[in-house]
Amino acid sequence: MQALKGFKDILPDEVVIWQRVEEKARDIFQRFGFEEIKVPILERTELFARSIGEATDIVEKEMYTFTDRNGESLTMRPEGTAPVLRAFIEHALHLRRPVSRLFTIGPMFRHERPQKGRLRQFHQLSVEALGADHPRLDAEVIAMAWLLAVELELTVSLELNSLGCPECRPDYRRQLVDYLQARREQLCDDCKRRASSNPLRVLDCKSANCRRINADAPSILDALCGPCRQHLEAVRHDLDALAIPYRLNPFMVRGLDYYNRTTFELLTDALGAQSAVGAGGRYDGLIKQLGGQDLPGIGFAMGMERLVLLIQERQQITPVGPDLFIACLGEPAAAYGFTLLHQCRSRGLRAAMDLQGRGLKSQMKQADRLGARRVLILGEDELNQGRAVLRDMTDKSEKSVVLSDDQGELLSALAGTN
Ligand code: ATP
Ligand code: MG
Repeated sequence: MQALKGFKDILPDEVVIWQRVEEKARDIFQRFGFEEIKVPILERTELFARSIGEATDIVEKEMYTFTDRNGESLTMRPEGTAPVLRAFIEHALHLRRPVSRLFTIGPMFRHERPQKGRLRQFHQLSVEALGADHPRLDAEVIAMAWLLAVELELTVSLELNSLGCPECRPDYRRQLVDYLQARREQLCDDCKRRASSNPLRVLDCKSANCRRINADAPSILDALCGPCRQHLEAVRHDLDALAIPYRLNPFMVRGLDYYNRTTFELLTDALGAQSAVGAGGRYDGLIKQLGGQDLPGIGFAMGMERLVLLIQERQQITPVGPDLFIACLGEPAAAYGFTLLHQCRSRGLRAAMDLQGRGLKSQMKQADRLGARRVLILGEDELNQGRAVLRDMTDKSEKSVVLSDDQGELLSALAGTN
């Protein structure tokens, strides 16, 4: 039996990197006042159709949707924003604080063509700030994503755009439709369709012909209304103040329909076609559209697999080995060692011993392979004398420690290893 295509086992050696990324993300998000929320993987299909948009790739062809035993259409979440907003509305979280700062970490599902950094089950760090439309919040959220990349020591670049608002976007949309209709014959088949159903999506097309046409398309930045222009200027001003470098990209549109005003992406050139490590933007109408109050919001998501790949390309991370390996010779020593093992673990130490009755030499090898920092060597003589040898595996030095009921001497010798 094998895992499904696009579904991946994450083995222990790699999990070490995942844990580091998650730990760093939680640390940084909490510094910015974000709280973790956990939401279900399965939701009603309608939630995604209504938020992401019917005419998007995700809803049209990527969702894992099925009818459950009650005849209801359910979908494995393809992204985190819709479920978090559903929970926000359902539990009236807007009453808790003026701006709700929430994040969630977990698997998402999209039926795409699997490649390096592109899976069908992938994982996102998904962040939402709900309740304020101040441009400073946009800068703050972008700064948080940026800081995560910086502290993970990743080389990424930031692209920024504004998608306007219901006041100015229809105008831009018309301009774009005119431009695309005049060149319709040169577009790829998907874009021929999109050119009328969802013209902004054409700007995101990866095919060579469409890209050539897109390069001369009208720029949304020229079409922004006054307030949208001011909003963008304010975001740029605050990013400059924080010395966060970015490039304006008027052709960056997102794959989800709910965005307005600020959108941004964090890009890498180290993962081939999978260049986005994170992306997000403002979605001021979305909470209302999902049946909640008319509250603005902004968020982003970062792809865990891509973050992990970038770290793997740069450095090797080895799992943390035990603080102590207890090497025992003979059953009385093993029985004594076993209680000592539990004592150490109860005191917060990582401790290990062999359970297969191996000889001393192979126990030492095992300790080495596990990356143990110290080994306590326990034989019958040691038990009788009430002392044992503690070997430091890094510098090979040895010292004798007294064995006592509370193992005080051993534990204080080990305390220096952390
Ligand atoms: P892409 O252009 O690479 O398809 P996207 O615009 O569809 O990305 P979003 O929906 O904005 O991506 O999701 C945010 C982040 O989640 C992406 O920047 C990426 O790092 C990650 N991501 C998206 N889809 C996948 C996937 N299929 N496999 C792995 N990571 C993904
Ligand atoms: Mg995609």
